[in-house]
Amino acid sequence: MKTVILATNNAHKVSEISNALDFPGWEFKTLRQMGIESDPEEDADTFLGNARIKALAAHEASGGMAALADDSGLAVDALGGAPGVYSSRYAGEDATDQDNNDKLLVELADVADADRTARFVCTLVFIDEDGSEQTAHGTVEGRIGYAPQGEGGFGYDPLFWPDVFEGTCTLAEVPQARKNEVSHRGNALRELRAKLEQGL
Ligand code: IMP
Repeated sequence: MKTVILATNNAHKVSEISNALDFPGWEFKTLRQMGIESDPEEDADTFLGNARIKALAAHEASGGMAALADDSGLAVDALGGAPGVYSSRYAGEDATDQDNNDKLLVELADVADADRTARFVCTLVFIDEDGSEQTAHGTVEGRIGYAPQGEGGFGYDPLFWPDVFEGTCTLAEVPQARKNEVSHRGNALRELRAKLEQGL
């Protein structure tokens, strides 16, 4: 059995990752499940940089086990790519999803429909036992709405209208499985799966 440490304690991400990378003989464990303390400062200015910080810290704290980390966020064109790596703390260090969504709507108050383009971005970094690294990247293109819509998902999902849904609904209005088919994290995981398969 090969154990891969997931540098997250987010249950939703854990199930998404273990479903996407269901290789025979692989099992995924969170840091908490392994009893490992690792909470490095995510102070890089790119998603790749922050994902690498988390993956390396988990790899080292576990004494060299395989480790996988992701970093993700929302990039809004009219805001020069903000909130970007600051997505989870856009409205402040202890901001809730609602605080962040409220701030985003205020920032975009005077921005016309055509200029409300945005994308979710996800970068994954996998570090194997031997220290070798694989990275993968995924995005989903869409537009920011004018009011939250839908109860599913998390974060900015209720404001995000994926282009692929052609204006029918937000990312918070579809079942998780449908979100995974189109999402930045789903796309990054499919790319990572293809890369890892080559080495199996
Ligand atoms: P992290 O990668 O878990 O640190 O996520 C960073 C932040 O980006 C989250 O707190 C959300 O605000 C936002 N975000 C990342 N992925 C998603 C998503 O799938 N839907 C909505 N918001 C997301």
